[in-house]
Amino acid sequence: MSNLLEHARESRYGFFINNQFIDASSRNSLTSINPANGQPWYEISDANEQDIEHAVNAARQALTKPDWADITQTSRGKFLRRIGDLIGEHGERLAEIETRDNGKLIREMQAQMASLPETYYYYAGMADKITGETIPVNKSNVFNFTLREPVGVVGIIVPWNSPLYLLSNALAPSLAVGNTVVIKPAENTSASALEFAALIREAGLPPGVVNVVTGLGETAGEALSRHPGMNKIAFTGGTDTGRKVATNAAANLVPCTMELGGKSPHVVFEDADPERAANGIVAGVFAAGGQTCIAGSRCFLQETIYDHVLKNLGEKAENVIIGDPMNNATQLGPLALKEQMEKVMSYIDIGISDGGVIHSGGKRSIDHGRDRGFYVEPTVFTDVTNDMRIARDEIFGPVVAVMPFKDESDLIDKANDTIYGLAAGIWTQDIDRAMRFAKKIDAGTVWINTYRSASFMSPFGGFKQSGYGKHNGYEGIREFSRLKNVVVDYSGKSQDPFIMKLK
Ligand code: NDP
Repeated sequence: MSNLLEHARESRYGFFINNQFIDASSRNSLTSINPANGQPWYEISDANEQDIEHAVNAARQALTKPDWADITQTSRGKFLRRIGDLIGEHGERLAEIETRDNGKLIREMQAQMASLPETYYYYAGMADKITGETIPVNKSNVFNFTLREPVGVVGIIVPWNSPLYLLSNALAPSLAVGNTVVIKPAENTSASALEFAALIREAGLPPGVVNVVTGLGETAGEALSRHPGMNKIAFTGGTDTGRKVATNAAANLVPCTMELGGKSPHVVFEDADPERAANGIVAGVFAAGGQTCIAGSRCFLQETIYDHVLKNLGEKAENVIIGDPMNNATQLGPLALKEQMEKVMSYIDIGISDGGVIHSGGKRSIDHGRDRGFYVEPTVFTDVTNDMRIARDEIFGPVVAVMPFKDESDLIDKANDTIYGLAAGIWTQDIDRAMRFAKKIDAGTVWINTYRSASFMSPFGGFKQSGYGKHNGYEGIREFSRLKNVVVDYSGKSQDPFIMKLK
């Protein structure tokens, strides 16, 4: 195991600041637990305000140093390309670290690592194509243009479910534009970010451009989000935490991107291919143990096909192979944390006491020694109404609430009756209906005859209490840059000092 954690000393990590691993000023540490067996496997340093101060200062200083501020855009692109290459070389190791940290399937983490270099190559290609505009302003002898500049120091706070993937959605465009960053990974899944930081150093980025501080959200994360030296916060996590982060940042008028939770509707119409639709529902809510922000956790089945699709879904749920996430045959691993498992089990109890009926699953999975880990059966609830907590709250586990609907108008009202607006899916052969749904649904991403399909090239981000701002695609460049207007008067004439020049 020790060869996985190359930059831990005796299974303990320091912070990564100014391209060095350093100890916490308090020397306090936190333990990371492998959710497959409940065993501790490494420690991270626990940052306090002083440590955050240190990291933000490092990032602020790096922002104006010539080895970063004055290099060409093409050179920044080369750095990004090199980072992508190094992820490719170390992908297997990084994937294994993440699986041991969050319990997601090794196959899934390997797939994430295999595609991650592409994100860096994409933004590497974009680094020297970031442009402003020339804008005519109805004034003779005036040249008016915009410059797209770095915002400054970006704080990136990420959750545990896909640590490097989510971190990269904010990091790659931030670096392409020329920002410096301070990253705060989730307390339980910090190792991959720290190992990745060492690769960034190997890629040749100057000290202070990328810094990683680890620790608790309510201390380290909080200190980062309220630090006046920040210029932007990219937060990915739960809606309640996002509200706190946005409030803290607002005290300094620091803008944020908020990639928050969801309770996404996943819809099957009577004309859909039932087999593909049932597979889509499984992919939407049981993959990754339902620990994805885009989980299709409210499933709406048209009344006429309700029984048929439900039966198919129940059979699929019962046949899901639960087990060790390191095993290639496993389809559902443990939940990432003991607390997460307890939260999911408590929601199953709430669902039952609110009148929901368990169609399949509903228990912890404890056979074959799994009682030491945090496994929960894929669970299908019926007899759910949209006002029940299992239909309203983000559970972040393998639990789907199935509900019937009559027709399109009945569906849209029900599907939009949520505080969230992250994603939605629809299964139908009728393109007109699919397009009407896509227009009427309040969700940042709409999938038609597919689900949980994402690309670094395409903007991603939610509406309503799922957040604001976009990651990925050219939108990532816009999010992590600022626009400056420059006005050049080449008339050679002096102006009236007391009148604003509107013409
Ligand atoms: P949390 O909101 O609990 O944590 C996210 C990050 O914020 C962690 O690094 C956490 O640190 C930190 N944090 C916690 N409290 C604070 C605070 N007061 N100030 C600053 N930072 C803080 O989310 P989870 O880790 O539980 O992740 C699951 C959530 O993330 C779900 O709601 C999910 O929907 C959402 N998510 C959204 C995505 C999107 O793109 N929209 C993608 C993936 C997940 P610590 O680990 O120490 O608590």
